[in-house]
Amino acid sequence: MIFDDQHYDVIIVGTGAGGGTLAQKLAPTGKRILILERGSQMALGEQNRADVDVFKKERYHAPDQWYDETGEPFSPQTNYAIGGNTKVYNASLMRMRDRDFEAVTYQDGVTPEWPLKYADWDPYYTAAEQLYQVHGDAKADPTEPTHSADYPFPAVGHAPVMQPIVEAIQGKGLSAAPLPMSLTKREDDPTGDAEVFGIDRAIAHQNVTLKANAQVVALHTNPTGTEIKGVQAEVDEQPMLFTADIVVLACGAVNSAALMLISANDQHPHGLANSSDQLGRNLMKHLMTVIVERGAAKNDGKFARSVSINDYYWGDEYYDFPMGHIENSGGLLQDIIFAESPPLLSVLARLLPGFGLKKLATGSIGWWAQTGVLPKAENRIYLKQSRKKKKLRYEFTPNNLEAHDRLVYRWMGVLKELEGSALGMRQSTVYPRGESPIEVVGYQCGTCRMGHDPATSVLDINCRTHEIDNLYVVDSSFFPSCASVGPALTVIANALRVGEHLIERLKA
Ligand SMILES: Cc1cc2nc3c(=O)[nH]c(=O)nc-3n(C[C@H](O)[C@H](O)[C@H](O)COP(=O)(O)OP(=O)(O)OC[C@H]3O[C@@H](n4cnc5c(N)ncnc54)[C@H](O)[C@@H]3O)c2cc1C
Repeated sequence: MIFDDQHYDVIIVGTGAGGGTLAQKLAPTGKRILILERGSQMALGEQNRADVDVFKKERYHAPDQWYDETGEPFSPQTNYAIGGNTKVYNASLMRMRDRDFEAVTYQDGVTPEWPLKYADWDPYYTAAEQLYQVHGDAKADPTEPTHSADYPFPAVGHAPVMQPIVEAIQGKGLSAAPLPMSLTKREDDPTGDAEVFGIDRAIAHQNVTLKANAQVVALHTNPTGTEIKGVQAEVDEQPMLFTADIVVLACGAVNSAALMLISANDQHPHGLANSSDQLGRNLMKHLMTVIVERGAAKNDGKFARSVSINDYYWGDEYYDFPMGHIENSGGLLQDIIFAESPPLLSVLARLLPGFGLKKLATGSIGWWAQTGVLPKAENRIYLKQSRKKKKLRYEFTPNNLEAHDRLVYRWMGVLKELEGSALGMRQSTVYPRGESPIEVVGYQCGTCRMGHDPATSVLDINCRTHEIDNLYVVDSSFFPSCASVGPALTVIANALRVGEHLIERLKA
């Protein structure tokens, strides 16, 4: 093993929404910062998807194998690259609603209250929207919480194929609002991500070192287990050991928890900072269903997402529980989650035999229905010893299903009512739809819950582990519950918030 002779103030592991954002926040301090990222730079052609090859199975999957509760292996759709999953995400950056931070009563139970409320998050959301150049309209959606500052850029218009549909939806009294989007205004790389707004800015500072192809494989503590003393990585397959005063994990909810579990030692026999037995538990991911509207108007298959509908977010006159969020998918030739859905593709193949994928994608509009789930201790990741290797078990039984089904049927009802009234919407008896399968893990959160009580949480409110003084986690693991909007803006806002705390700590 090679021992790096440099000692760092901070090591950040992972460069996605959490790690990339934190790196740019800490970079101006002048402190010695090392960033370790297991992936490398993603080619622009891979990021700017615009063809049917998005449907190639496994194209956007990690080289890992994870195992479901029956022990069946699957390769997760998660992106190991500089910028992490933000290099392939859809760049819609929404704030959680103010009530999402409270105890919310869903049909299947009550979510835990967050230790910090919307008013605490608001300034960090504003900073996150400014950093990621979010384009939106804070007044168009009645469920949008009050912003202390407006979006830094006005909302962009809808694609020609969407405009009449949006007007027809609004004509029904629904508030089809502009979807807040992170945009760079660069032609070669239009959507904003954690490489462009995070890592690129961080490494412009001399005190920041980025090592790509550097997979962290273990963390080592001091003999009493109170501090991380060494970060072991495979850098271009070469074993190396790094040291720092502070270590921040930002590997994504599954991989950060897995790294802490695999680093178990005599002082932390069940995984680092896991006396509570909460590490890896409360794994959540949104229930997501894509609904295909076979629009007659031709489109290019690559227009941006732009429409957000939250009229059913907290329920409706027939259902008194939260149902969730609807957004359009944008052009289907760039939507890699849509391309994942085998049930959907098989329905389409039955309905439209001989119909080419390109023709399908350019003659259709997709809608996503998204519903949050409740945290459950039994939904978790853990490591299972199998012969010489520890395998990553990913056990997730979806809950809150009725709310999601109701949302899907409610939206299909709206589409049905719109048939004929809006340009491009053809009469249809069937709306092909498909739920996202187990491989779709991009919206993962939970696994290292944040809270005041060390008996029921892994992280304190600064996202520091309760038990190891210099170990922090700033990816989506900290979420105590999972709202129906996408998680990325909250991960980014949290990284800025934790960054402020770390800057104070580094001054001491
Ligand atoms: C196709 C897709 C579309 C999405 N669209 C949206 C959207 O429109 N809006 C939204 O809010 N959310 C969206 N999401 C979710 C969003 O991308 C994630 O919530 C967000 O990226 C999570 O940030 P993170 O920091 O937790 O992890 P990631 O962004 O996943 O970053 C983790 C990083 O850690 C690295 N890493 C992992 N393990 C190691 C290790 N051992 N050593 C070193 N490095 C490691 C990875 O390579 C990666 O770079 C989407 C996700 C996907 C996959």
